Amino acid sequence: MTSEELKNMDDTYVMHTYNRFPITIDHGEGARVYDLEGNEYIDFTSGIGVNCLGYGNAGWAEAIYEQAKKLGHMSNLYYTEPCAQLAKTLCERTGMSKVFFGNSGAEANEGLIKLARKYSYDKYGEGRSTVITLKDSFHGRTITTLNATGQDVFHNYFFPFTEGFRYAEAGNMDDLKNVMGDDVCAVMIELIQGEGGVRPLDEEYVKQVREFCTENDVLMLVDEVQTGVGRTGKLFAFQSYGIMPDAASFAKGIAGGLPMGGVMASEKVQDVLGSGTHASTFGGNPVVASAANYVLSVMDDKFLEDVEAKGKYIMSQIVGNVSPFVSAVRGKGLMIGIELAGLKNGDVAKSLMDRGLLTLTAGGNVLRLLPPLTILPQEIDAGLHVLLGLIGE
Ligand SMILES: *Cc1c(COP(=O)(O)O)cnc(C)c1O
Repeated sequence: MTSEELKNMDDTYVMHTYNRFPITIDHGEGARVYDLEGNEYIDFTSGIGVNCLGYGNAGWAEAIYEQAKKLGHMSNLYYTEPCAQLAKTLCERTGMSKVFFGNSGAEANEGLIKLARKYSYDKYGEGRSTVITLKDSFHGRTITTLNATGQDVFHNYFFPFTEGFRYAEAGNMDDLKNVMGDDVCAVMIELIQGEGGVRPLDEEYVKQVREFCTENDVLMLVDEVQTGVGRTGKLFAFQSYGIMPDAASFAKGIAGGLPMGGVMASEKVQDVLGSGTHASTFGGNPVVASAANYVLSVMDDKFLEDVEAKGKYIMSQIVGNVSPFVSAVRGKGLMIGIELAGLKNGDVAKSLMDRGLLTLTAGGNVLRLLPPLTILPQEIDAGLHVLLGLIGE
C-alpha cells in the first residue's frame, strides 16, 4: 500500500476525531520512524509519551511474544503471575501499597475519583463527593474526566457531564482555599501539566497542597498518566517533589506501547475499593503486564539518571540557542515544553515534520517534546539540528 492509498482508506472509514498530520508511519527503530515509502523521521513524541523504550525494542517484543504463547489473556477471576509481579514492583519502587489495573489514562483517573468518593462515603456518608482539579489541567476524554479537566473548551456538546468538580488556579493556595468546601473529597492534580502547556507546579505549592489535604482529610490524587514511568527522570514525578499522594494514576508509558492504565493506592486507602466495587475485563492482562514488567526492569537508577541528563542537555541546547521565537523553555527529564512567540505551535510542528522531526503541541502556544526515554545522543542531536534550524532562524 502507498501512503496515498492508506490516507484515502483511513479518511473514508475512520472517524475524523483526530486532525492527523498527512504522513503514514509504518515501522520504527530506536527513536526513528519510517513511512510507507521509507522516509525517515526523528521522533520527539513517542506516541504521546507511550513508547518509552523506543521502537523495535527486542527485549520488549520478546517479553510480549513469550507471554502471548504461554497465556494471552485470562479473566481477573483467576490469579496470573505477570499482574501480581507488576503490582509488587510498582509498590516496592514507590512506597504505595496496592494497585488496580485498567487500560487507559482516563479510565485510571476515573478509578482515582471512585476511590476518593468511596473513601469519603465510607467515612462521612453522602454529600462529600466534589473533586477539586486545577485550571489548565487535562484528565481524559470520558464524560467524567472531561469535566474533571479544568479547561472550558472540553465542557461542550456532551451534556450532561458528571457533576462534582470545581477548579482552582494552579500554583495558587488562596484560590484552592476559596473553592474548598465541606462537600469536597479530593484534590486531583498533575505535577507537570502536560496538555495544558508543560507547566511544572511549584514544589512549595505541592507541599502545601499535601498538608492542606491531610488537614481536611480529603485525598490528594496525582494524575501521573503523562509524568509517570520515568518520563521526568524519576519513576514517578511525585518522587521528585518529596511528597506521597494518597493515590496516583498511571498509563501512557507503563507498558511501553501496549494499552494499560491503573491506580496506585497508599496504605491509608489501599482497601477502599473492595470486591465488587471496581473492575476491568482486560485490566492486568498477562501480555500487557509482561510488557510493563519488562519496561520497569529496564528503568533502573542509571536509566533514570540518563533521562534527567538527556533532558537537561536538550533544554540547555534550546536555551543556549538564543531565538526570538522562544519565550520560555520548561519541563523535567524528557518532558519539555518550548513556549513560542511570533510563530504558531501547530505551524512549527508541521514545518518540523516536513523536515523530518516529529513533535507535539500543547496549550499556551507550546511545542512539546516527549522523546523515547532510550533516545541516543546522536538521535537527540539530529533532532535538535532540525529543531534549531527552524526556530533558531
Ligand atoms: C493522556 C492523558 C490522560 C488521558 O489518557 P488516555 O489514555 O488518553 O485516556 C489523562 N491525564 C493526563 C495527564 C494525560 O496526559
